[in-house]
This record gives sequence, structure tokens and C-alpha cells, in this order.
Amino acid sequence: MEQTAAEKITAAEQKPSIYTLQLHELKNWLKDNNEKAFRAEQIFDWLYTKRVTSFDEMTNLSKGLRDSLSANFSLTTLKTIIQQESSDGTIKFLFELHDGYSIETVLMRHDYGNSVCVTTQVGCRIGCTFCASTLGGLKRNLEAGEIVAQVVKVQQALDETNERVSSVVIMGIGEPFDNYDSMLSFLKIINHDKGLNIGARHITVSTSGIIPKIYKFADENMQINFAISLHAPNTEIRSRLMPINRAYKLPDLMDSIRYYINKTGRRVSFEYGLFGGVNDQVEHAEELAKLIKNVKCHVNLIPVNYVPERDYVRTPKDQIFAFEKTLKKHGINVTIRREHGHDIDAACGQLRAKERKEETR
Ligand code: SF4
Repeated sequence: MEQTAAEKITAAEQKPSIYTLQLHELKNWLKDNNEKAFRAEQIFDWLYTKRVTSFDEMTNLSKGLRDSLSANFSLTTLKTIIQQESSDGTIKFLFELHDGYSIETVLMRHDYGNSVCVTTQVGCRIGCTFCASTLGGLKRNLEAGEIVAQVVKVQQALDETNERVSSVVIMGIGEPFDNYDSMLSFLKIINHDKGLNIGARHITVSTSGIIPKIYKFADENMQINFAISLHAPNTEIRSRLMPINRAYKLPDLMDSIRYYINKTGRRVSFEYGLFGGVNDQVEHAEELAKLIKNVKCHVNLIPVNYVPERDYVRTPKDQIFAFEKTLKKHGINVTIRREHGHDIDAACGQLRAKERKEETR
């Protein structure tokens, strides 16, 4: 009989992923194991430049060190279950984790490069009412290495055509600020010049609005892009779409965002999904313009995909343009996000929900 994911967790005796370690942590581990610290840079080179898939390929390390790495860490933590390609070049990956759970990662093609959207948790407990990822609740947090490995796996797929991952967005399944420490380690590893060397300005993290973590993140003073899933122009609509708004209220959220902008000097992005008949009227655009007046920001309008498990419908095209025009009239920077992978299961969590029904119940 096939094991359930929970049984696999109990059965699994998983070593930590080598991708979880930052360079200084790997140096410390080497020193503790009577090895030279400079080996850490050699190992990073094998992991992030040569992108090997086994410790045995790290041929400039001694056999003893390779065995020791292999005894203490795992290298291949994600197994590709599905790789779905859209006619626009978007590729959606479903990866299986060591304990049998699965996660989604998406490669999107833009004219400015290849962008990877990573997942930070198995499931999510935030409960946004428009999101398929939330249906089965939170199963567990990903460790930093499991998030890093998603980018490495996509880069390995791109290596076949000599292409490169040029940007990363943390907007997949899960709330990154609900798995804060792993998210932060992940950011440091992919940004490190000996790691994947993805520039801070090419990395975007998005939150549903966990206010204490917004203050904490502001104090990290990282130069990465910061997005907030706003989705509503007022408290009433936001609470309806995003229950988190009952715990972390809109006026307090706006205060934390102003703090972030003052502290970092950077502008923020507001993600605003357009849900037919809920938040997509011109009067909502007027209200939104008032809410974010004098906030250094950009608004991304996202025409939502129909999610079969939910009741929301798409906003007609002319209404999307009327919404955009209203914001522009108030001098707000706004773009309508191009849809990716419209012919595959592109909405957040849809592929996992469809393929892994037992996990999302
Ligand atoms: S939209 Fe994001 S934060 Fe909200 S439930 Fe889905 S995964 Fe969680």
C-alpha cells in the first residue's frame, strides 16, 4: 500500500540539505571537521556554478571530505514529478520533497529575462479566500535549502539551452514571512556572489501583510524589491478576501509600509488582484488612490484566473482598463500584469491541488 505523506515524514530520516548552508556556516562546519575553510568556496562553486548533482563529482575535494559531506548532508532534495510547458514558454514544475509532500515552482519568460517563482511552505495557513494553496492548510515550512534547490533545479533545466535565471520572486505557495528565518537565509544564499549571484534588485519578496515581520524586514535594510498583497481599497473588502486583515488591520499595515519606505528609501509594490464584482469598480480605484496617496509605490493589477474551487470570476477587459486609467489619473504608477501559462494550471497552487488531492484536503 502506498504511504501517505505523513507516514513518509515519520519514515524519513532526512539529512539537512547542503543548500541550506550560507558560506560562513559551511566554513564553520569545515573547521569543526578539521578541514580548511577555503574548501567552502570550492564547494559553493560545485553547487552554484557547476551545479553538480552528486558529491562524488566534486573532484578537487578529498575522498574523505566528499564522504563526510555525503554522510552529513543531502544534495538532491527535490524530485521532478511534472514539468508542464505553456505555449508562452512558462514552465510549471511540481517537485516532490523527501517526505512525500509536493511543491510548485514556476519559470516565467519575460523580455528582460527568466524569472523563477518559488514556494516557501507546503500549503499555507493565511487563508486568502481566492487561493487554492490554502485549501489544505499549512503542512510544514520549507527549509532554506529546499527553497534554494528550486532555483537550482530550474537553472539546471535552463542549462540545457544555455539560459540563465535572471530574477527570483518569492510569490509561490506559502507566506514567506511565516517562514521568516528560512526565507532570509534563502535570500542571502541566492544573492551571494559565490552562491547563485542573483542581484538584490532582481529579487522580489511578497507578503500578505504580517506586520511585525514587515518592521523586522525593514530593519534588515536589504535592497531587494518588496511587494504587498493588498487586493482591496478598504478594510471591509480586504477582510472578505484576506482573513489576515482581521489580525493585522489595514491602517496598521499602511503604517508598517510607510516605516519600510522611510527606513530603506525604496518604493514598494502593491499587488491588486481584480475580482469580478468584488473590488474592480472605478469607485474602488478611487478609494485605492486615496489609501495609497503619498506612498512611494507601484501598483500591479492582476486579472485573476478563475479558480474552480472558489466563486470568483474574471473582470472584463474594459473594466480592467477603466481601473488602470483611474489610478493613472491620480498620478499612481500602475501596470497590468501579463498573464503567464494561461493554458496550464497557472494559478497559485492549482497544479498541486489537482495532482496531489490528498495533500490539499
Ligand atoms: S495567496 Fe499566498 S498568502 Fe494567501 S493563502 Fe495563498 S499562498 Fe497563502
